Amino acid sequence: PPVQTASDAPASAALLARASEVIPGGVNSPVRAFRAVGGTPRFMASGSGPWLTDADGKRYVDLICSWGPMILGHAHPDVLAAVTEAAAKGFSFGTPSENEVRLAEEIVARVEPVEQVRLVNSGTEATMSAIRLARGFTGRDVVVKFAGCYHGHVDALLASAGSGVATFALPDSAGVPRSSAGETIVLPYNDLPALEAAFAERGHEIAAVITEAAAGNMGVVPPAPGFTEGLLRITKAHGALLVSDEVMTGFRCSPSGFYGLEGPYAAGAPDLFTFGKVMGGGFPTAAFGGRADVMALLAPQGPVYQAGTLSGNPVASAAGLATLQGCTPAVYERLDVVSHAIADAVAAELSAASVPHTIQWAGSMFSVFFRDGAVSSYDDAKDQDTSAFRRFFHSMLSQGVHLPPSAFESWFVSASHDDEAVDHVIAALPAAARAAATP
Ligand code: PMP
Repeated sequence: PPVQTASDAPASAALLARASEVIPGGVNSPVRAFRAVGGTPRFMASGSGPWLTDADGKRYVDLICSWGPMILGHAHPDVLAAVTEAAAKGFSFGTPSENEVRLAEEIVARVEPVEQVRLVNSGTEATMSAIRLARGFTGRDVVVKFAGCYHGHVDALLASAGSGVATFALPDSAGVPRSSAGETIVLPYNDLPALEAAFAERGHEIAAVITEAAAGNMGVVPPAPGFTEGLLRITKAHGALLVSDEVMTGFRCSPSGFYGLEGPYAAGAPDLFTFGKVMGGGFPTAAFGGRADVMALLAPQGPVYQAGTLSGNPVASAAGLATLQGCTPAVYERLDVVSHAIADAVAAELSAASVPHTIQWAGSMFSVFFRDGAVSSYDDAKDQDTSAFRRFFHSMLSQGVHLPPSAFESWFVSASHDDEAVDHVIAALPAAARAAATP
């Protein structure tokens, strides 16, 4: 089908025009603008369970789920009740309060290596602070990240690979100082020899390696068997810290995140973790945490400064706590059932239409690459037919299924995706697969 035009979504188109006057690109986060797929981004008016309703009143089965947080579905009654109760008691105190303690306790209880956490407001803040803490702890400046992993828009983490294994990276964005990107080494994901080589050359300078526990920001690319063990072994051998970014995977892949699926590890545990998304239940709260001796360096106890006017916000903490408490075994079972039902049907229909595709998993998190063959690195992920995805996306959208508007994103489901929602997705697939097959 042709790219959806403004006439398919007149109210959204009008909102986009208004938004573009006062908000750059009309959006407050770039992927929402549909630049990768074209057409009019849908402005949502409401969400309930697995459904979103846009400004024109059209309904969609939501396969973004706010990029992960809405694991129980939109406006879940228990979370709504917790938020309402907390909000009635005040919105923000600028003093400590009990809800943040309860949320921190819940996180520490779930992820065994995490002894203490500090609450922040976004995943970006969590990774930024974890990096600062690792630098403060080790007295070193260099950070290693992997190509295709996204850790938020932190200067040092918005870096692209330079040429050669242990060369310092280049800024990935205007406005990132060369000096900042120059403290970062970018290596291919799932490539332990490259990491060994970088440490052999610069090990004494490296404060931390940061990795997504399972990559979800180039599509889903799980760590190869032994990769995480290797990261642990190499960082520990050189006195560097390992930061496991579970902003996306945390409390989604299992009650204790991807760590719960893959850990504990023979080579020890990641020193620091970052969390976001699910632990905020759709509200702006996130966390970083880990070893107590490392966390002890944070202000006010230690010399590493970190703070926030709204950190540990009582309403956001209530939403996060209610969401985590709502993540029962039945919820994880449902996520499995829903994601496999959808992925199996996608595979069947794309196969029937002879569209090359590969589906990859991290727990119940999955994504569809429009290519043949396994994806283990960002170079692999980039080698796919994004035009086929674009046609597939717009066919699904026109049939009332809202996929992530990029071929490089995980698809997210919720436990509220009932059979009606799943059937609606499956019914849309044959036409979308034919569209993908027809340039
Ligand atoms: N780390 C990971 C793994 C993420 O997926 C994201 C967001 N997609 C972030 C960090 C940044 O989180 P936020 O958007 O809340 O700043």
